[in-house]
Amino acid sequence: AKWVYSFGNGAAEGAADMRNLLGGKGANLAEMSSLGLPVPPGFTITTEVCTWYYEHGKSYPEELAADVSAALEKIGAATNREFGGLERPLLVSVRSGARVSMPGMMDTVLNLGLNDQTVEALASEAGDRRFAYDSYRRFIQMYSDVVLGVDHHEFEEVLEDYKQRNDLTLDTQVDADAWQGIIEKFKELVEEALERPFPQDPQEQLWGAIGAVFGSWMTPRAATYRRLHDIPGNWGTAVNVQAMVFGNMGQTSATGVAFTRNPSTGENALYGEFLVNAQGEDVVAGIRTPQDITEKARKEAGSSMPSLEALMPEAFAEFQSYCGRLEAHYKDMQDLEFTIEEGKLWMLQTRAGKRTAKAALKIAVDMVEDGLLTEEQAIGRVEPAALDQLLHPTIDPKAERNIVTTGLPASPGAASGAIVFSSDAAEEAKAAGRKVILVRIETSPEDIHGMHAAEGILTSRGGMTSHAAVVARGMGKPCVSGAGTLRIDYRNGLINVAGRQLKEGDIITIDGATGQVLLGEVTMLQPTLSGDFGTLMGWADKVRRMKVRTNAETPQDAKVARDFGAEGIGLCRTEHMFFEGERIIAVREMILADSEAGRRAALAKLLPMQRQDFTDIFKIMHGLPVTIRLLDPPLHEFLPKSDEELAEVAKAMNADPELLRDRALALDEFNPMLGHRGCRLLVSYPEIAEMQARAIFEAAVEAAKITGAPVVPEIMVPLVGLKGELDLVRQSIEAMAKAVMEESGTELTYQIGTMVELPRAALKAAEIAQSAEFFSFGTNDLTQTTFGISRDDAASFLGTYQSRGILEQDPFVSLDQEGVGELIRIGVERGRSARPDIKLGICGEHGGDPASIGFCERVGLDYVSCSPFRVPIARLAAAQAAL
Ligand code: PEP
Ligand code: MG
Repeated sequence: AKWVYSFGNGAAEGAADMRNLLGGKGANLAEMSSLGLPVPPGFTITTEVCTWYYEHGKSYPEELAADVSAALEKIGAATNREFGGLERPLLVSVRSGARVSMPGMMDTVLNLGLNDQTVEALASEAGDRRFAYDSYRRFIQMYSDVVLGVDHHEFEEVLEDYKQRNDLTLDTQVDADAWQGIIEKFKELVEEALERPFPQDPQEQLWGAIGAVFGSWMTPRAATYRRLHDIPGNWGTAVNVQAMVFGNMGQTSATGVAFTRNPSTGENALYGEFLVNAQGEDVVAGIRTPQDITEKARKEAGSSMPSLEALMPEAFAEFQSYCGRLEAHYKDMQDLEFTIEEGKLWMLQTRAGKRTAKAALKIAVDMVEDGLLTEEQAIGRVEPAALDQLLHPTIDPKAERNIVTTGLPASPGAASGAIVFSSDAAEEAKAAGRKVILVRIETSPEDIHGMHAAEGILTSRGGMTSHAAVVARGMGKPCVSGAGTLRIDYRNGLINVAGRQLKEGDIITIDGATGQVLLGEVTMLQPTLSGDFGTLMGWADKVRRMKVRTNAETPQDAKVARDFGAEGIGLCRTEHMFFEGERIIAVREMILADSEAGRRAALAKLLPMQRQDFTDIFKIMHGLPVTIRLLDPPLHEFLPKSDEELAEVAKAMNADPELLRDRALALDEFNPMLGHRGCRLLVSYPEIAEMQARAIFEAAVEAAKITGAPVVPEIMVPLVGLKGELDLVRQSIEAMAKAVMEESGTELTYQIGTMVELPRAALKAAEIAQSAEFFSFGTNDLTQTTFGISRDDAASFLGTYQSRGILEQDPFVSLDQEGVGELIRIGVERGRSARPDIKLGICGEHGGDPASIGFCERVGLDYVSCSPFRVPIARLAAAQAAL
């Protein structure tokens, strides 16, 4: 096998489409090199080596050592340098690169190849001892931290100590001799910690770094990231070894990161940050505040620090031309890394840039207008789940703003919450149901869980490309970064800012749109959707085959869903219409009644409420299909629990509370989810179905009169496993339809169907379809009953299943396509065989999950139904699935 791929000097053995083998970074370095862009020469060790490494007790294929040597020699030939040489020493960077970028999760080593001898050679070659020793101390720090496991804080302390004793504030003030002394201390520190000296042999250094990259693939934090992003563990990472170029060679050198378009707004303008006389990681680490690349951005930010455009116009112009070329080549917004070494530009990375949903929409629509993409390609460019971000609240412009300080608008949306200073505290608070803002000096991959738990993130350090900013944007969480006036005191749980003191637990609001940090809770506005949103959704609607309906039972939800483009109601859970106030008392009365007469009395109270609800919903949906599910109350959710609740019902029923308590106890079930619910209740008490059918039909007559649009109700029977169950309920419904038609003198059309929520229903779909005009797959219950895992109790152990790799995903969130999916396939096939025109849909939670929607398209469902806020996501996901 070929384990190593070289690139550089206008050629490459790899290409952009080899990202599975070379990782994203390696594939794109090869591509840029082939395009003739200035890429420092290097090579990529493939992801297959990583897989091999883990399959063979952490060892390497036999040929690898020779392959790496040969590839190193190629770099040497291209640069006229020698690895470990004492004339012109070759230094390299070693970086990880998986198929998809895993920001901050994997490790990088720069300046590898330096030792006590080569540092002197570098110094005389560069004619700059300070630069050489600065590079060497960076290397020892980074290598020790990443490869040898000596915490970088220990090195920081040595450095801080030196600076304090000598009254220095900046690293750039430390001179060559001083660095030399500090390096000796660093080496002592390493030797003390590891009981062996810092490795001087460049070969040993190189293999140590390669091993560390592969090793970091399996660290818990990398595993967590993969789990959160559904990245399989067997993909592995590649290792990229590349000749060093130096951004820290003085005032004509620099390093930076850029996006070809604004990743926050999507504006078609180059956008980025850089630092003069600095090396790679300095920009993202947020230690110094970076400068803007373009004059435009500098002016907009009102910064007094010169832009790259002003400072190094030639390198800037060249860089700008590459931005255009790469964007046209990849037909996508690019995220770039570059270094300028003594005026010469080098390209270090290109990849599709992460962006907010707003930016993704704008970029996709703009690129279609510019002829770069087709409409269909544009549809594929926006991640459906990211649309969620657009639905985030923003601060009411009329609200009073008590501004504490302003940082960078790092990720859109606004959020309020109590201040916490650690990710663990954020997680605890979330578990206790409290909303918090995570406040950190800066964040690191160790904070991922806290960022997930928090409503928003605030940091005092770091730019728009800092860890906090990048990760928050990916998560769709509001973030303000680099709020430099905050003095955060972790130990005492305090923030000092502009003469004010905030403490842990104080409520603040952050505005990710302006970067403002506000005191207290501030009024929010619900979002309105941009023109780009409508445009892209329009394209999506043209190509999608499946309809998108909504799960809604209140007029308000129905209206929201219609505004989001819902094409009907796929599930109206009638029991949800009874959760509040007077209504729940009447429902309890009905449940607890011990005679048909008692039940009918309670049902009579419910009838007008139901009729009014249905009329309102039919009016709002104005002729669109509405599926109403007959009562499916898991009894335990409705039985009175407290004495107070019992007394309330007793009064309404005019009954003895003690007798009622006995009755409630008698109804108590061991497994309520598998108990007397769904159609079983309707079989026991046909009068319930009668009342609901009457309410539906009377409402249909009334709504049709008001709107002039005919109403064709779809009545759905829950939890059917036997055709006989459905037949029995059907009889009650049909009888009621006849009665209402006679009473009102109106003709009514309607459909009767069933939910498929039990394995038996899927298996016997052919038989059941004889009585059902439609099926709706209730994948919440179908998942519960297929796995035999209780919906209500799953959370306590499914997490372990995921972290142990038994399950990739929570099957209640994303459909288990193989298992539950097989039952759906069977249900579809057998249902259609008995009734070719049967209407098929899904209404479990999975109806709003993009991956599950893809499955629904593949099995040929007619529609998906999901909660109102997920309707846009479903429209886009359905379109992508159809392409
Ligand atoms: C289902 O089971 O998937 C469903 C939609 O019904 P419910 O969630 O109300 O049980
Ligand atoms: Mg159900």
